[in-house]
Amino acid sequence: MKASLAREFNRLLLLCALATAAAIALASLWPLLLALASYIIWSTRQLFQLYEWLVRENHVEPPDSTGLWGELYTRLEHLFRKEQKARADLQGIIGRAQQSVNALTDGVILIDHLGHLEYFNEASAHFLGFRRNNDLGQPLTNLMRAPVFTAYLQKGVFGEPIELSSPKDDNLILQLLVTEFGVGDKLILVRDITRLRNLEQMRKDFVANVSHELKTPLTVLKGYLETLLDSIPAEQSRLHRALKQMSQQSNRMEALVHDLLLLSRLENTTADESQHAVPVHGMLQRMREDALSVSAEKNHRIDIDVPVEARVIGNPAELDSAFGNLITNAAKYTPANGEIMIRWYQDEQGAHLAVSDNGPGIDPRHIPRLTERFYRPDNSRVTQTGGTGLGLAIVKHVLIRHNGRLEIKSDLGKGSTFICHFPTARLVSKPTAVAG
Ligand code: ADP
Repeated sequence: MKASLAREFNRLLLLCALATAAAIALASLWPLLLALASYIIWSTRQLFQLYEWLVRENHVEPPDSTGLWGELYTRLEHLFRKEQKARADLQGIIGRAQQSVNALTDGVILIDHLGHLEYFNEASAHFLGFRRNNDLGQPLTNLMRAPVFTAYLQKGVFGEPIELSSPKDDNLILQLLVTEFGVGDKLILVRDITRLRNLEQMRKDFVANVSHELKTPLTVLKGYLETLLDSIPAEQSRLHRALKQMSQQSNRMEALVHDLLLLSRLENTTADESQHAVPVHGMLQRMREDALSVSAEKNHRIDIDVPVEARVIGNPAELDSAFGNLITNAAKYTPANGEIMIRWYQDEQGAHLAVSDNGPGIDPRHIPRLTERFYRPDNSRVTQTGGTGLGLAIVKHVLIRHNGRLEIKSDLGKGSTFICHFPTARLVSKPTAVAG
């Protein structure tokens, strides 16, 4: 380019020199003016040509030109070609990305900061019934028509996915996971979990049915065992001992069936029935006395600090099961002469029941799994303690149904605290307003 510039400059210089020579020879300024005018006209023509070429759609064939202008055209054409190639490459990448997103079996949706639909792949069109021509640019909440989803988006907390029925087909159960990016834009992944949920329902139904079917034969067995035990009074006889063990095991089986049925009911029914302002003081006091008498030989000290007026809105039978399990566990796992504390307190977060003991404690690695069915950190203790392995699962489900949660704190070798947290919405502002 530098050489072309120099050449162009030399050309202009030569023109000026010749024009000046002619001007001197003819003693007139005309040759000089003529030379300058023709140079200006030529340059302006080149400029127009350049403009016309630039505004053309494609810049493939540049106008013929020499010197600096020719070089300028060649360079610009080169730049255009590079830009076209980069654009084609980029479009290729976008096309491939779109193809792969379209080939996904999961749905992918993009919405802008106003919640308007910007993009969706074929799977989401299939799951949610979106139509490319009509629905792009529409508010997603209008297309989904699900108040829970609208509330979920408005809340703006996307740690957990949400499950919904498809607006297109009620039998299609979808899981939507929202991820925020940019300034308020959202990427939504949609998964069809119908099969998973159906399998889960089948599992729940199976457990509920088996437990239900076991109830009657167990009652019969227990009845006969009690009759036989009564009719064989000789405490020392081997038969009596065998019958006693059979009776104990059938009691365990009965407790297991009871807990399984309770858990099935907690999982399979909606939570809004039998809600009362439950007075918990009497309930916890009774549980304390039961625990003291059941583990009388362990000589536990069980303290209770529950305000007489303490109440929580909920289902009394379910709360009874949950609190009972925690207090029974404390008594069951705390060794002789141990101390147990039952405390109810309220703060701006809501109401809380804390059951603490100075028993063996739980290794922290087991804590996250304790509320799973039949999860026991130490299987060797099962025979000694005789629990069903479902107690904490029941507590967890009861609390979920009361919009609460269970917190477990424990120090191995020092003791454990199980805290039931209830939100403020479950508190009674005027304790006498609702009968307990
Ligand atoms: P279960 O008591 O019938 O085994 P749970 O679901 O009630 O079943 O409890 C699960 C496990 O949690 C128990 O097996 C026990 O290991 C542990 N656990 C529960 N409560 C306590 C406690 N207060 N102290 C120590 N360990 C406990």
